Amino acid sequence: MSHLVLVVNCGSSSIKFGLFDNDAQHPILTAQAEQLNEATPSLTIHQEINGEKTDTVHNLPASSSHRDALQVFIDQTSDHLQHLAGVGHRVVHGGEAFHQSVLLTDAHLDTLAELNDLAPLHNPLNLLGIRLCHEFFPDAPQVAVFDTAFHHSLPESAYLYGVPYNWYEQFHVRRYGFHGTSYRFVAQEAARRLNKPLDQVNFLIAHLGNGCSATAIRHGESVDTSMGLTPLDGMIMGTRSGSIDPGLHQHMQHISHLSLDDISAQLNRASGLKGLSDLSNDMRTLLEAEAAQHEGAQRAVQVYCFRAARELAALNASLSSRDALIFTGGIGEHSGVIRRRILAAWRNEKFRLDDELNARHGDPDTGRISQTGSPLVLVIPTNEESMIAKDTFSLIQSQASHA
Ligand code: ADP
Repeated sequence: MSHLVLVVNCGSSSIKFGLFDNDAQHPILTAQAEQLNEATPSLTIHQEINGEKTDTVHNLPASSSHRDALQVFIDQTSDHLQHLAGVGHRVVHGGEAFHQSVLLTDAHLDTLAELNDLAPLHNPLNLLGIRLCHEFFPDAPQVAVFDTAFHHSLPESAYLYGVPYNWYEQFHVRRYGFHGTSYRFVAQEAARRLNKPLDQVNFLIAHLGNGCSATAIRHGESVDTSMGLTPLDGMIMGTRSGSIDPGLHQHMQHISHLSLDDISAQLNRASGLKGLSDLSNDMRTLLEAEAAQHEGAQRAVQVYCFRAARELAALNASLSSRDALIFTGGIGEHSGVIRRRILAAWRNEKFRLDDELNARHGDPDTGRISQTGSPLVLVIPTNEESMIAKDTFSLIQSQASHA
């Protein structure tokens, strides 16, 4: 019986895998190929063997490609993969073409290829993952789940930029928003915990990981979000600048030797926490360095928290009432210190955190970290892979029932 779904997230030098059973909640195994096309690539498989969590590391030959890594993954997990019902892919940009997850056809692949220009760092690799899986599993249905899809409900006032309208009409220049799969998961989970129907809840969600963004959710739908045409916009992130003055590129081109491509690369890879601290993009490292009086770390964390509060306060303008402010993502889920500092930087809202619940990253049932009487603040761990698996199962099942 085919009853497993493989979730694939293909990045520039990595592939993340998750193998899910019917409940789509917890993976049977996960794996991560790293440093692909580089000097020391590897594939690590995490699974429980006889009740014990086990990591198996396979060192791959230098310059191994995405294809090579997929082949090794298949060889190592062939016992499971003979039960494969389908493959679900994370696709970063769905443009205006994709409002929800789709069971992929050849026509979809052509449309996806046309979106490569909108997300040149991500989409070509997502497409590569789809093509490789099609080749390795020719009989398995494939599903694409888009980071942008949840934001298709943005009103025009939120998605248009103040630029010539024909830039939108001709070149599709608009706010798209990202991390949508995470927001969809967290919003559903929060509504469930609050025991309210999704279409009756208003949330502000901060997804703080390596990439950081926030979204205002009204009646269960995204109505404003901090990322824009690309995932560079909005909050300060690990290596990405977040919003900057649109005049910055020209200024830097004039006064430095940098080309437009150089500037863009630096804004994506050498900015954010890493650029400000001149130390690291990793929040754990920065908090340790800050405690040891590292000036760069102090500066980076301070600016990060201020800017996060500023984005959240701006998004809050779209909500006439709010059921909860929710933190998720690696930093949002694990750093009580950063949560506290962001809320303290939002000066006209009187949040009062419960120290003990904040230190425990939320009440075990509800995720609450705020005191009774304070505006409600929750911590809810995201699970994008589970959401992708769920969509994949449900699209495969609906295809089977229509066949
Ligand atoms: P990605 O966006 O790549 O999925 P994550 O959501 O895992 O990344 O978030 C990674 C970030 O979370 C890193 O900056 C990491 O330092 C931070 N992080 C993880 N655990 C902690 C912690 N205990 N305290 C502070 N930051 C943490």
